[in-house]
Amino acid sequence: MPEDVLINPKDVPLSFSDSEGLNRVYGEINTGDAWHYYQSVIGPEETVNPAILASDATHVTNFSGDGKPNRHAFLLLCYLPVCKFGKTQSENTTQAKTFPGCLKARLIHACLKIVLKTLKDAGRTAVPMVNFCGEEQMNRVFLSAWIADKEEQNLLAALGGNSCTTCEAETDDLGDSSPCQPCQAKYILKKIAQVKMKFNPSTQLWDFIKECQNHQLGGVDEPFWDDLPYTDICKVICHDTLHGLHKAFKDHTAQWNINCITPFEIDNRISKISVQSRAAIRATRAELDFIYHAGWKSLGDDDLQRMEDFNKVFHENKHAFVKTGQHGGREQSHFKIPKVHARHHYRENILLLGAPYNYSTEISEHYHIEIAKKAYKATNQKDYVKQMLVWLTRQEKIYLRDQEFDGFLPQDTKEEHGDTSGTQQVDDHMVDLEDKTEYSMTDSLVQSKKIVPVI
Ligand SMILES: [Zn+2]
Repeated sequence: MPEDVLINPKDVPLSFSDSEGLNRVYGEINTGDAWHYYQSVIGPEETVNPAILASDATHVTNFSGDGKPNRHAFLLLCYLPVCKFGKTQSENTTQAKTFPGCLKARLIHACLKIVLKTLKDAGRTAVPMVNFCGEEQMNRVFLSAWIADKEEQNLLAALGGNSCTTCEAETDDLGDSSPCQPCQAKYILKKIAQVKMKFNPSTQLWDFIKECQNHQLGGVDEPFWDDLPYTDICKVICHDTLHGLHKAFKDHTAQWNINCITPFEIDNRISKISVQSRAAIRATRAELDFIYHAGWKSLGDDDLQRMEDFNKVFHENKHAFVKTGQHGGREQSHFKIPKVHARHHYRENILLLGAPYNYSTEISEHYHIEIAKKAYKATNQKDYVKQMLVWLTRQEKIYLRDQEFDGFLPQDTKEEHGDTSGTQQVDDHMVDLEDKTEYSMTDSLVQSKKIVPVI
């Protein structure tokens, strides 16, 4: 069996780092509770296949070992239209500013509703598939995770700008040192239904949108996920380490430190920071420790507890960044920042889906280059969507054929030619390694591989 094929959780006991079974370890998605939940819902006769989507360029896949783009773990699902609605007629500037964003959100949800219809069917009715052992099993597919940055997370959850997708926190709650009660998809649907009772989204669109804003909603009347079986969008959206932690630290905490002690002192020596800034140091160090932990490939319950402690230390000391008479720091007296708030939810995200290492938008950012920019560059820029799809289809076929060829290669030959996938096993029944004729043929295939542009 290939080492990086995730097997069904029903065949895998939970993993612990200690013999007493007290410290559970979370890594890939099959170590989290979400997959086990889906399995418990459908029973032991069927097998769960988790679908992981990512937006930017939207893909769907079963997860592979390391999720690196060069492993072709993700496939293009669709290109979503991005329309600026520039010709939309508005009665005033408020409408002109608000309409395009809401219409864009409604368009994307309408598109996803169409695109994900087959996913809905695959979650409702099991279909037979052959596993890697050659056995036929009944399978169902569920939307299990969605990789996206904060703006897209709210777009997908049909929520307004700064609301939290994991708890019921709204803009005013984001600076609190603890989260609100957990948010559920049915809570969002209930709020939408209440607004629809007041205003018809088809005939009273502007009134509907205004009322949605009052309820911290995004103006979408029919979210694409409202009828996905057993799926709660609030549990599916992953908290992103690239934007949510690394970029957030650079944009916020690092800048607050510089504001507090001036760029000169930062360059001079950290040791000259006044006593008054010790809290700032504690907050900064706690945030960095949190970020380092979130980057690990597997985490135990003890690591998750430490992350909670780091977050607590940050909130206990964050006041040091608020602007005072002597210091710069923040220019506002609050911390109502969605990315700062999101750190409350990493623990529950990891319990459900495994280590956040697997859900960084770094993956989808890279694919954006691979399947959008490169594909567009390969066209003559006329009627380019069709050409891009043809180009991508060809690339995938070339890649798959390449993988078939690799199956015929002896291991040392693959290493010699830089194959590091580790997913293909040499099948002695298919290739006689002593047969010079066969070897010569496969070698020539490898040579031809060098001129095939594989993404
Ligand atoms: Zn929250």
